[in-house]
Amino acid sequence: MPPTPKSATLRFRSECSLGCPRCDRKFPSGGFLTLENFKRFVDRSPGLTHINIPSCSDTFLNPDFIKIVEWGLRERGLLFNAYDINLAQAGREALDALAPALGFLSVVSAGATAETYAKARPGGDFERLIENLAYIRQRTGANVQWIYQITRNSCSLDEIAHAKELAKSKGLGLFFTKDNSTWSPANPRELYAATGVLWQDAQMFEPYIGYSPKACAEGIAVPNIDWDGGILGCQHSTKYKNFGGAALKLGAGKSMKTKPYRDIRHALMTGKAKCGSQCFDCWLYRKILWNGQWATREDFDGPA
Ligand code: SF4
Ligand code: SF4
Repeated sequence: MPPTPKSATLRFRSECSLGCPRCDRKFPSGGFLTLENFKRFVDRSPGLTHINIPSCSDTFLNPDFIKIVEWGLRERGLLFNAYDINLAQAGREALDALAPALGFLSVVSAGATAETYAKARPGGDFERLIENLAYIRQRTGANVQWIYQITRNSCSLDEIAHAKELAKSKGLGLFFTKDNSTWSPANPRELYAATGVLWQDAQMFEPYIGYSPKACAEGIAVPNIDWDGGILGCQHSTKYKNFGGAALKLGAGKSMKTKPYRDIRHALMTGKAKCGSQCFDCWLYRKILWNGQWATREDFDGPA
């Protein structure tokens, strides 16, 4: 039986306007998480301490965003973690509401100039993103990260040097990561010296080793829920869709007993993903099949 989760990932709004060229995520449109639904969800989720705000959503265009964060902190002591959110959309009022309730916040940019950033996220606003990031960092003092993703378009050493200068001038923590799906035309030795990121690493050449189903089990220990209560299943899958469900009525614990989660557990514990289930055509699942390692009940639920 899944334990009661301490955190849940909740999408505040259905749309995403960043317009990434390689986007393959389709969300049901036309809605947002209301304060009333949020209250009901929290009341039915005993033990909840954190709400994760995911990427791929126009979170700050949710008209109830400020009320939700203020109520969550004031009435239930909830903290909010925000991963790669579209921070450029946030007004100062929203950032002021979020600051005292913030656990952790990160934004990811492929580039350190408006021009480069726009190649990856044409609907974004790089300058406002950095201004807002600096503002919330200055309000909270910590746990705010700028993650620079090195891609084919953003890997020039000049661009990386500019990112470092910008981060220093704004007092931001800067981290580098890479996009595994493209190759960098930069000299890998120089890139490594500048960022500490090994581009052409062993994982690129041996794609079927080194992945454990434990990572999947940890990943789905946190329910992933759409603004309307639909279950989104695993966040790593390209089949990131609403599987239906009523998580806002059921609460975080019971929502994890629903079919998408049962299917994921079954796939990872047996190696027999059902056709059409989320793991079925996931690239990470192929690694697990190759490894022949299966998850145990303990990987999902912790020690008995
Ligand atoms: S942030 Fe996510 S949902 Fe939005 S366009 Fe990019 S990939 Fe698609
Ligand atoms: S195999 Fe893929 S879809 Fe299944 S839990 Fe792991 S990452 Fe998610």
